[in-house]
Amino acid sequence: MHLRTVSLLAAVAAGASLVGADAHDARQAAPTGTDAWAAAQSKASSALGKLSQNDKVSIVSGVGWDKGPCVGNTARINAINYPQLCLQDGPLGIRFGTGTNAFTPGIQAASTWDVELIRQRGAYIAAEAKGCGVHVLLGPAPGPLGKNPNGGRNWEGFGSDPYLQGIATAVTIEAIQSGGVQATVKHYIANEQERNRETMSSNVDDRTLHELYLWPFADAVHANVASVMCSYNKVNGTWACENDKILNGILKNELGFPGYVVSDWNAQHSTNAAAINGMDMTMPGSDFNGRNVLWGPALNNAVSGNQVPKSRLDDMAKRILAAWYLVGQDSGYPTINIKANVQSNHKENIRAVARDGIVLLKNSGILPLKKPSKIALIGSAAVVNPKGRNACVDRGCNDGALGMGWGSGSTEYPYFVAPYDAINERARRDGTNVALQASDSTSGVSGVVSGADIAIVVITANSGEGYITVQGAAGDRLNLDPWHNGNQLVQAVAQASQNVIVVVHSVGPIVLETIQALPNVKAIVWAGLPSQENGNALVDVLYGLVSPSGKLPYTIGKSQSDYGASISSGNDDFREGLFVDYRHFDSKGIAPRYEFGFGLCKSTPLNRESFQKLTDPWHTRTSPTPTLPSTQPSRAAPQQARPSPADELTSSRRSPASPPPSPTPAACWAPRSLSSTSHCRPPHRRHRRSSSAASTRSSSSPAPRAPSLSTSAARTSATGTRARRTGSCRRAASASRLARAREISGSRGLLRRDDES
Ligand code: BGC
Repeated sequence: MHLRTVSLLAAVAAGASLVGADAHDARQAAPTGTDAWAAAQSKASSALGKLSQNDKVSIVSGVGWDKGPCVGNTARINAINYPQLCLQDGPLGIRFGTGTNAFTPGIQAASTWDVELIRQRGAYIAAEAKGCGVHVLLGPAPGPLGKNPNGGRNWEGFGSDPYLQGIATAVTIEAIQSGGVQATVKHYIANEQERNRETMSSNVDDRTLHELYLWPFADAVHANVASVMCSYNKVNGTWACENDKILNGILKNELGFPGYVVSDWNAQHSTNAAAINGMDMTMPGSDFNGRNVLWGPALNNAVSGNQVPKSRLDDMAKRILAAWYLVGQDSGYPTINIKANVQSNHKENIRAVARDGIVLLKNSGILPLKKPSKIALIGSAAVVNPKGRNACVDRGCNDGALGMGWGSGSTEYPYFVAPYDAINERARRDGTNVALQASDSTSGVSGVVSGADIAIVVITANSGEGYITVQGAAGDRLNLDPWHNGNQLVQAVAQASQNVIVVVHSVGPIVLETIQALPNVKAIVWAGLPSQENGNALVDVLYGLVSPSGKLPYTIGKSQSDYGASISSGNDDFREGLFVDYRHFDSKGIAPRYEFGFGLCKSTPLNRESFQKLTDPWHTRTSPTPTLPSTQPSRAAPQQARPSPADELTSSRRSPASPPPSPTPAACWAPRSLSSTSHCRPPHRRHRRSSSAASTRSSSSPAPRAPSLSTSAARTSATGTRARRTGSCRRAASASRLARAREISGSRGLLRRDDES
């Protein structure tokens, strides 16, 4: 049984169960705002009393594009010892850093389904941010959610299920802010494509907004996120950064968000409307030509002229100051130095996420490799970009091995281990000969493959942010095909070899039908976006140092049209409603090639703790369960109870509409020889609850629900039973934990044939 898949499916079901009446209870039972926020707000109020109107305007206004050391900067305020604030991308590490690491993209972290790896990733990113003096990290990015499979920035976030996005987002925020850095959750909201992102309106109904796109942002608020970035697009006809309904109504009132709303870069369109309707900080403070300054002096005048109430300016400044106090940046924070050397041992997490995020899609007994005498390695993506690993600005090209997409969510690679580097190194030790063709040409393939017992082809698909166009793709992908004629390349290799392994490095789903139809393709390894540890992670899996454990965080369909959503050329009316990704496939009875959550082989057994974490977003809090400060606006009731799409998911899982694939036990293998340091988790904190939430989920229980943590009793149990576990080895998972996990999940009708062993 593959319990991670079970955990995923149970978690999805749990998320869906919250859509109903329990959503109301659970969300209200775990209010936002904390004792920590209350203390921070009180400090912010005192500080506010020492500020002039000019000071307050300076706190809320960026100094202008390219006018400071970071991508966003505000002015220093001496009266309260408030620093020049540094806001820096992004979701996978410190953009433009030279002594920093390139962490794995969010989508790779999501495909590990490993909360502790995701938490460690966030903690290490925070350590690097703090070491560089970055006050505000511009991530994580649960928007876009990924309704369009070819959406350019889907890879920055955690996959196309809101529950998965929400958990990974919340855990990441907790880790970042525990490290003393303000997190910014972005892009709020319904920013699902790059095409026309700065002109289009996302017209989305209230239920869809709440149940899909808002969900991870709600989890972010519950995780005490410091700031929320409003997006470029309009929402239902009004710019997101001056949209009263989504900023004041939903975010600040309904969710009770106590932090500040920062604009996406140059996403502000007005002085007064933005201020009155809920934006709190403008970035970068001008357009990209240094003109069009909408706050700064303009806001000062608007406040003096009573077009914007003084109380609103006070509220903006107070929110920003409170966030600064919340994470303890008012004392001993390092000075800004984006070039600081802060890499430490963080690459261990990068390799672990890169490796554990690899999804084995197909294996007809060819893997793991057993000291072949000759390997043919084919594809331009097998080697580092010949022009240099960082030759393309913001990774804006698809030359050489792929580790991340392009745009503001990218970073510089400090080094890059490509597939060839790692395979060649391993082959040398085994006495294996490696023949390399570092191009995608089909003509020379037969020569390279000649005499090889194994042929490995590496193919890619890339995307990014819309300000860079790569091979005709202005952010969003043009289609779901592999780039560089990847299908033809694999066909050519499969004509020359009977033992072909296809390795896919991709930002999101590609249509695999051509490749799937080739009998000589014996294995498909979905290696995702592994960043700088690309080759090492691949070798760990190909050679059986670990058993693959990744699970798809999106659906791989048989054709692009099967997804039921596509990039809009004008406004987007979100007609698919709730039915994005697997929900669409299930609702229409479309069989995917590999469904959301698919992945062969065994992985970390689900235990009660990890199950609780996956099914209870608030369980992962590091601070005591909060009480809402009395100054916060009251929160309205969320959506009413309705049948949920995941109920349909559950039933359709049993229907022939989406038949599960049927791997054989031979598809999997046990880890061969992994050193204890890499196989075992590093020491980390785990939180345990003695509440009966999980234990009541017996074989006769209904779908798991997020239990209330709001009562003082629950609070006590949540914090009082925390246990520190050191160095627990994944393999040490006992049979009894397995049995318990089976018991937890076995009744849900969610077990799949690929889970059984
Ligand atoms: C992106 C944001 C990013 C900002 C600053 C914008 O173009 O949409 O995600 O944080 O630039 O670089």
